[in-house]
Amino acid sequence: MISAHSLVAVAAVCALAGCTAPPTASVDPQIAGDIAGIKAIDNHAHPVRPALEGETPDNEYDALPVDNLEPQSDQFLLRPAAPENMEAHKQIFGGDKASAKKRYGRDYAVKVLDALNIDIMLANRVALGPGLPTSRFAWVPFADALMYPLPTDSMVHNSDQKAFFALEDKLLQRYYAESGVTAKPATLDEYLDKVVRATLARQRAAGAVAEKFEMAYLRALDIGNPAKADAEKYYSTGAGDYKALEDYIFRFIASECGRLGMAVHFHTGAGGGGYFNVTGSNPMLLEPLFNDPALRKTNFVMLHGGWPFEHQLAGLLTKPNVYMDFSAQTAMNYPHEVARALRAWLEYVPEKVMYATDAYPFAPPGMGWEEAGYAANKAGREALGIALTGMLRDGEITRDRARELARMALRENARKLYGFK
Ligand SMILES: [Zn+2]
Repeated sequence: MISAHSLVAVAAVCALAGCTAPPTASVDPQIAGDIAGIKAIDNHAHPVRPALEGETPDNEYDALPVDNLEPQSDQFLLRPAAPENMEAHKQIFGGDKASAKKRYGRDYAVKVLDALNIDIMLANRVALGPGLPTSRFAWVPFADALMYPLPTDSMVHNSDQKAFFALEDKLLQRYYAESGVTAKPATLDEYLDKVVRATLARQRAAGAVAEKFEMAYLRALDIGNPAKADAEKYYSTGAGDYKALEDYIFRFIASECGRLGMAVHFHTGAGGGGYFNVTGSNPMLLEPLFNDPALRKTNFVMLHGGWPFEHQLAGLLTKPNVYMDFSAQTAMNYPHEVARALRAWLEYVPEKVMYATDAYPFAPPGMGWEEAGYAANKAGREALGIALTGMLRDGEITRDRARELARMALRENARKLYGFK
């Protein structure tokens, strides 16, 4: 997730004639046609489980739902009144989602994917469930909660963090229960084995392809390499350095993910909430981790392209096990801005660049995951078209290579990374 629910408070009034997106001449028609025809793999999104009449609405689309945040100054493009969002609402099932929901029932979420020409969506959720079939939705659960087995009061400095850490604690209790553990184990080794390893193994067995860290909402991304003794000391006494324990557990999780064949996903770059620590979300903080020989068997994915650090992030793509996606940028920024970053990434290490929407229920029903997905899908494909057209016109690539790069970014890079057929 990336933004705040305060969006809902913004008057949903379309600015007179500004309701339709302006046409763009920046995309070569053949490239546009190729891009439109590719069935995408969406590297990161939060689809909502369709609830039938009488069922409780889904609340498992995020471990840290944005409706817990205090109001912020919302990015223009994320306001429901932004023309792009008005258009998205009109386009998704003709603006009549209620009858589409009735008509499609359990198939509703699949029909949304069909409408966006998305083949497989990585579903970043606490759990999947009915209506999100594994043939179309690949599960990415949340692992942050496992890093905080002791009280987190000392880390709470604002109301957003207070809500987030309470939610993480709730998720940790769920992981304890699902692991059959009733109380905090006596030693760190026991905790790592009975709760952490057990949870990861269970999630992998249930089909998880990656573990997601919303760490940037909780603390900075500067993960160190602490001594085990320091981690153990904090675990058993609650005295010393909590960060040593967090970092030690993170590294254990990352190493397990590599062993189990799951990637590790990081939120990188700006995020939701007026207290969000943008500086601490800089993907460059992850470099020592990416450079650790002990973790080279783990694949890391920097979600959201790390905006506003998107050009720095490109420098990390030469690490053999490091990937990125351009989700969220497509919701926050206009296609021309995204295209500039995309072009730099595609020119540098094109095998590591992945399409994604971050389709998220920002302010339903007007701006649900369907509208967010529609807008991000449209902007993302357009940005890709602008980037490839620029490369073609500047003589950097041929038409065939443009088609190949489009296929890699929209589908093939993710297919290879996750081993999809
Ligand atoms: Zn997200």
